[in-house]
Amino acid sequence: MARRIGILGGTFDPIHVGHLRAATDVAASLELDLVLVVPAGNPWQKAGDVVASAEDRYAMALLATIEDPRLDVSRIEIDSPRPSYTAVTLKALRSQSEFADAELFFIVGADALAGLQTWHGYPELLDLATFIAVSRPGYEQGDQLPPEVAMVTRIEIAEVDVSSTQLRRSVEAGTSIDGLTPPNVVNYIHKRGLYRRSAREDVAS
Ligand code: ATP
Ligand code: MG
Repeated sequence: MARRIGILGGTFDPIHVGHLRAATDVAASLELDLVLVVPAGNPWQKAGDVVASAEDRYAMALLATIEDPRLDVSRIEIDSPRPSYTAVTLKALRSQSEFADAELFFIVGADALAGLQTWHGYPELLDLATFIAVSRPGYEQGDQLPPEVAMVTRIEIAEVDVSSTQLRRSVEAGTSIDGLTPPNVVNYIHKRGLYRRSAREDVAS
């Protein structure tokens, strides 16, 4: 039988428990064999806003998923010099022998769903995988969506009210991020000095 593979794309700056919940809840409800976390190398939606390097974001994603056999991390976008377009990534994954016969499910949060029509390659993009939208606190499913987007399958997950922005701000403010991301990601952020105000000034200067 064809393997059922979920794909969760994003900046993961840093990865957090909301991402992990989306991945594991969709894996459980759609009986996926694996969910691939795919950190963007060059996130076109966030030009100038990305704080941690691709390698740091990849390392944190690896640390966060290492204990769960149903989760893995792909370097496909961070190893590419091109902008990280989902349409390109899905075609590239499909061309790998490992995924040639797989059934692909691309997972987006409710906030990302609302912007899908602006993505590169829309609407043909929607034919490259089965798109799955998960609930996210603070984001309505939206009634102004174009018909193609409105048809995307929705899955209600156990909502986790956390964002990478919130984690970055907490670290910068010196408040705890315990419980918002796995302990080894917390350790990595502190060990590497990521998201501290001084680290940002170093980069800027
Ligand atoms: P930022 O605050 O920097 O935008 P983020 O928390 O939104 O970060 P992204 O890397 O932008 O994280 O998101 C990657 C994918 O994960 C998107 O599809 C997004 O909708 C989804 N996602 C992020 N956080 C959650 C959450 N708490 N619940 C459900 N889905 C989420
Ligand atoms: Mg986001």
